[in-house]
Amino acid sequence: MSETTHSGRQLRDENVRPPAGEMPGNPPRVAIVTGAARGIGAATARRLAADGMAVGILDLDAGSCAATVAAITDAGGRAIAVGADVSKDDQVEAAVGTVAAELGPPAVLVNNAGVLRDNLLFKMSEDDWDTVLSVHLRGAFLMSRSVQKHMVDQRYGRIVNLSSSSALGNRGQANYSAAKAGLQGLTKTLAIELGPFGITVNAVAPGFIATGMTAATAARLGVTFEDFQATVAAQVPVRRIGEVDDVAYVISFLASEGARYVSGQVIYVAGGPLS
Ligand code: NAD
Repeated sequence: MSETTHSGRQLRDENVRPPAGEMPGNPPRVAIVTGAARGIGAATARRLAADGMAVGILDLDAGSCAATVAAITDAGGRAIAVGADVSKDDQVEAAVGTVAAELGPPAVLVNNAGVLRDNLLFKMSEDDWDTVLSVHLRGAFLMSRSVQKHMVDQRYGRIVNLSSSSALGNRGQANYSAAKAGLQGLTKTLAIELGPFGITVNAVAPGFIATGMTAATAARLGVTFEDFQATVAAQVPVRRIGEVDDVAYVISFLASEGARYVSGQVIYVAGGPLS
């Protein structure tokens, strides 16, 4: 039995299915992490590099990626900085092409880039709405569409999308919760479409993680970041707020060879159950 790949090649079933047997190791792969200049993206890029991957560190400004690249190369890994706005098709195509040319064809994509434009509905501007939907949802769509052809050619791929506990609803985040819920739908649909080509697609949905993004939220609410974290931590079952590595470890698993039979899932990383 054969199928036609997205790049038009014939593909036999036995080539699609990863070998059964022992837990597979991680052969060298190329990953792209968007929004990797700082926060969860930077921690994820460092984690994937520690797993043995060469990593394209993508963010709005290539210069802002220098610290993440240095952390990886100083530890003996391979990484390059790539500047691109994930919501712009031409920049996405150029960035993916640069990574493929300099590191090799990408096999792992982490759609992490994100912004907040929080406001209650009656004060939310169209620009607030469009900006958040563009970066999170259109960005993940454009990046996935560009990278999938490299994954299909390799008959292997791992896409991990950053959703959020806010997908379940959060006051002041109509735009963000819609984008993060949309990413869950995108995840499940891409898992169905790309599964036959050895590509898994999953989402990680963090709760409160201490990063520049949540520090900015505290500032907007007029509370210190320390007080904000303490208030949130008291409501989390494990009684602390999340750290970037809490998310990076889960992404590392979903990006690994061994996660080959997990696809279309949303994993909440929130120190307790959410539904
Ligand atoms: P952050 O603000 O610290 O980092 C986001 C990065 O994305 C920045 O480096 C920024 O420059 C980059 N970025 C923004 N727009 C971009 C664009 N158009 N193109 C390319 N890069 C762009 O954020 P973070 O807290 O590390 O969050 C990372 C992801 O995790 C986001 O998708 C966020 O929505 C999600 N998330 C975060 C939390 C949390 O509590 N921090 C919780 C749930 C989900």
